[in-house]
Amino acid sequence: MKTTKLKAYGASTNTADLELMEIDRREVGANDVKIDILYCGICHSDIHQVRNDWKNSKYPVVPGHEIIGRVVELGSEVTKYKQGDLVGVGCMVDSCKNCDSCHQDLEQFCINGATFTYNSPDKHLGGHTFGGYSTGVTVNQDFVLKIPENIDARGAAPLLCAGITTFSPLNHWNVKKGDKVGIVGLGGLGHMGVKFANAMGAHVVMITTSPNKAEDAKRLGAHEVLISKDQEQMSAHANSFDFILNTVPVGHDINPYVNLLKIDATMVLVGAVEPLGSVNGGGLIMGRKRVAGSLIGGIKETQEMLDFCGEHNITSDVEMVNMQDVNNAFERVVAADVKYRFVIDMESLKN
Ligand SMILES: [Zn+2]
Ligand SMILES: [Zn+2]
Repeated sequence: MKTTKLKAYGASTNTADLELMEIDRREVGANDVKIDILYCGICHSDIHQVRNDWKNSKYPVVPGHEIIGRVVELGSEVTKYKQGDLVGVGCMVDSCKNCDSCHQDLEQFCINGATFTYNSPDKHLGGHTFGGYSTGVTVNQDFVLKIPENIDARGAAPLLCAGITTFSPLNHWNVKKGDKVGIVGLGGLGHMGVKFANAMGAHVVMITTSPNKAEDAKRLGAHEVLISKDQEQMSAHANSFDFILNTVPVGHDINPYVNLLKIDATMVLVGAVEPLGSVNGGGLIMGRKRVAGSLIGGIKETQEMLDFCGEHNITSDVEMVNMQDVNNAFERVVAADVKYRFVIDMESLKN
């Protein structure tokens, strides 16, 4: 298969810094769209995979799954896009399209394994896929998203992962006007959760350990702030939430949050992919409460999320960085020192 060499930033081992390298991208096939990458967000999972925290990384790792760019070339059978369209690519670039999950527009749960944007087996070139820390990418049109032209393209990048990760559970569990919704944790995910829940008409409560995040939470759209370390405040809100979105990225005691749920209400976990410690069965039984999980969203729902962002003028709060400063940005993400997402300006890699 014909390929082109493009500039990228990747890591050669789990202890190496990201550095400039050349990667092969395929030329467009009949159903492919070639994208000139303008911006790419930095997601915490980029760092996990560069450092092999999940024990499945293949090197070199070229991360990046919050990609915004312009269409520069189309395959002969591409009907959904034209040259110059502003488009996005999120966490997936392909799936089997034939299993139960794919038939339900849930490609992220493809039973035969979705092809993730990086670090997945590459069906076209062999080896593994490379992500958006690069000047360009070639993607099947079915996995390309339309970006509304009225929203800021830089702030749109994080919608492709942080956005859909938080929109999907709010949407799937039918959060609606007047619901009391808690968002646990104010980081890259949490700040999007606050914006979406507010736009859906919910009464939004930011639930955080840090009183110093209160002001920012309100600026982003929270109506109230609940300090989870304050027992009195937690008791005052017991059994009152219609829905809780829990974005805490590490294992933690979820029992205090279960206590906040109303009868039949659900808390959805989107951050912690590790053991959570013991859960008090009584807390669930006394109130028929539910704890669930959610992973990004399918392509159809991701497009719905982007359209929703266009209607409500929602983007992520971002700090722009040059590709050459990515290693420092990684350190700052680990230290939670970013409001609320870094986005790489890919122009810095093109000179
Ligand atoms: Zn991500
Ligand atoms: Zn499938």
